[in-house]
Amino acid sequence: MAISIRVRLALVYAAVLSVIVLIFGVLLYVAVQQYLVRQTDESVARLARHVAAALPAGDQLSAESMSMVDIDPFTSPGMHVQILDGTGQPILHSAGLSIRTLPASDADVRLALLGVATFYTADAGGQRIRVYNLPLEHGGKTVGVVQVGKSYLDYDLTLAQLSQATALGGGLAIVLAGLISWAVAGRALRPVADITATARAIALSQGFSRRLVERRNGERGDEVDRLALAFNEMLASLESAYKSQRRFVADASHELRAPLTTVVGNLEFLRKADGLAPQEREEALDDALAEARRMGRLVGDLLSLARTDASQRLNMEPVALGQVVRDLWEETLLRADGRQLVLTSAAEVTVWGDRDQLKQVALVLMDNALKYTPAGGRVELSVGWADGRAVLRVADTGIGIEPEDLPHVFERFYRADKARSRDDGGSGLGLSIARSIVERHHGTIEVQSTSGNGSAFTVHLPALAAAVPESTVATR
Ligand code: ADP
Repeated sequence: MAISIRVRLALVYAAVLSVIVLIFGVLLYVAVQQYLVRQTDESVARLARHVAAALPAGDQLSAESMSMVDIDPFTSPGMHVQILDGTGQPILHSAGLSIRTLPASDADVRLALLGVATFYTADAGGQRIRVYNLPLEHGGKTVGVVQVGKSYLDYDLTLAQLSQATALGGGLAIVLAGLISWAVAGRALRPVADITATARAIALSQGFSRRLVERRNGERGDEVDRLALAFNEMLASLESAYKSQRRFVADASHELRAPLTTVVGNLEFLRKADGLAPQEREEALDDALAEARRMGRLVGDLLSLARTDASQRLNMEPVALGQVVRDLWEETLLRADGRQLVLTSAAEVTVWGDRDQLKQVALVLMDNALKYTPAGGRVELSVGWADGRAVLRVADTGIGIEPEDLPHVFERFYRADKARSRDDGGSGLGLSIARSIVERHHGTIEVQSTSGNGSAFTVHLPALAAAVPESTVATR
């Protein structure tokens, strides 16, 4: 099993803090150590100078000349003084010096006898001692050496205490940081656990109406609040998609059942009824055929609708909308059937879209205009350009739409007058297909209509380019 984010965060914090504590501890240790060495060196050098000043001046230093000198008052616990004569032999030392003589470094003593003051660290019976050799000069000659030694005991103790305190404090801080980040991460991630539980419950029950409790308005909240908000938005869109899909399936089955019942009824009637008059037979067959065709159209429309749904990829390319409508107009002229079909303008406007789908939009609007315009009426098509958008307009002088139907005509399966529409073979899907295509092209579709006085459908689509509209009035 993967380590939880919570534990991972706690471990990362603890690890980062450990590195910081380690670096900080080492730097502090080195700084204190250097400070202590400097301090020690200064104190031994100062004492050496004091002692040198207190010694009797003379060419020679001997045990006798030193007999009068008491150097003990200069010393303190851990501080030792020793005087060497001109040959490097010890002739006097302070009382506290347990090992009698300060451990000597021959090389340093020799250097001191040559007049060079030196520091060195010596080991005296397990105890480290810092020693300073100060040459005693008289008449330009080195007559002896003052050696001052200071035990490193205090110094080592201080450093040991410092290491201990750093290790203890650092360790505590690391454990505390780990625990605190574990607790904070736990609190912060609790809503994520809620989201997981809700998502699981929804997956099991398909209850898309469930929502997460939003602690704060997501936009103003933290990342988890925004996640909850996005999750709820996703649930809302899933719920609506799920509902509309169910409604659609129910509507589609309902719509298909009616023609199917007629077809089956007529076929059964034909099989059972012996000795039917040829005319009756013909009528029953015609009826069944008409319903079967209607069903075919309905299935075709359903297929188109499924294709226009977002899952289907659009074949985008620059489309000369004027040309598309002009071609369609020419193809449809044959079906005008006593109605005037006029192309008032076909501007050379290019849109970015799927040619077949855009053609279908024009076809739906043109079919409807012809379908709901009685013979003698007039249908006008035009493609224009306004405010950077292509405008397709299909207006008719037909039966128009009742005000109460107007807001619903783009809904799936909506037919303003069901009986009338069904006779004409309308499925109530044409306009919803058109709207869905237009919206996928980031356009809009509107209708204006007065009952009995015709309707006008206008589609606006974002245009890529447009030439000066070519005005073509064609009537047939
Ligand atoms: P249908 O297949 O029934 O035509 P549509 O979705 O294309 O389905 O249209 C929905 C309804 O809108 C139609 O049933 C009709 O009542 C009304 N309608 C659409 N276009 C027109 C029009 N040009 N004139 C009058 N009514 C129309």
